[in-house]
Amino acid sequence: MLMNSTTARKSPIFQHDIETINQMINKYPKLRRMLLLQDVLSQFQTKIKGDPMKGTNLNWDDEAIVEPIINDLQRCSRILKQPIATLLNPSIFDQEALLFMCEQLEKVLNQKISRVRKLKEFLKIEKSLRLNIIELVNAALKNDIRFFKDSGKRLRLRYELLFFIGSALIQSCLKEIASKVTKSFLEEWWEPICPICGRRPHVAKLKDKKRYLLCTFCGAEYLADQFLCVNCGNVDPYALKFLYPLKQQGLRIDFCEKCKHYIKVIEEERLEFSIPYGLEDTSTVILDIIATQKGLIRD
Ligand SMILES: [Zn+2]
Ligand SMILES: [Zn+2]
Repeated sequence: MLMNSTTARKSPIFQHDIETINQMINKYPKLRRMLLLQDVLSQFQTKIKGDPMKGTNLNWDDEAIVEPIINDLQRCSRILKQPIATLLNPSIFDQEALLFMCEQLEKVLNQKISRVRKLKEFLKIEKSLRLNIIELVNAALKNDIRFFKDSGKRLRLRYELLFFIGSALIQSCLKEIASKVTKSFLEEWWEPICPICGRRPHVAKLKDKKRYLLCTFCGAEYLADQFLCVNCGNVDPYALKFLYPLKQQGLRIDFCEKCKHYIKVIEEERLEFSIPYGLEDTSTVILDIIATQKGLIRD
């Protein structure tokens, strides 16, 4: 069981000298970028948290409207074995609301990351309808990387930036859906990708001897096989290894010898400190640093 916040010790990221961590992160630019972008996303989500529409034309606080939609999405997702995001009709998103969200995102990017001139250019381009924001959202829902690469080429923008913007715009809606689907839907999914957004997880939780994959993008927590590489699908137990790199009990790295990808595992029953909900990935960044040093790969 997790300790409550008054009795819990601090998590590893706080126990370490922050300066040391910063120096290590600087040595690994991939992690630095990941942390910065996570920070931008969480600040942006805080800015738009109060809006019940979440960039759509639906009020997600109105259960009478939302419940039948969620039920229908779950039913279709079960039948088709496809993540809910790929089944969402992009016309539920509202162009004006999305443009407002873009402006909020730009403000956060301006505060956190220098040189967001390209985002301003993007907004101008969007307004002249060379790129339709609903199409951008649709591509983010379907993880359509080809769309982002083609659009990036055409608009002379880095496709990663377009993907980041598209993802930021759909995140609050997908978080709503993840919080509203049934427990049985999440327990019966049994696939490595997230049943809500289709992204690959970086964190898992071990509870009651079961491994739950945790999607830090939409917040879904879903059951999966313990002996499964979420990157390549390897199920050979002899090629699936784990290590406990820290003195603290309850944190480990599961990795696959075939593809060298890893996932961070939080063993809830052995955990000696509390990890706030929603901060599981950021709070365990020390595991990313160790895994990277060992030549392991984060998706
Ligand atoms: Zn997800
Ligand atoms: Zn693998």
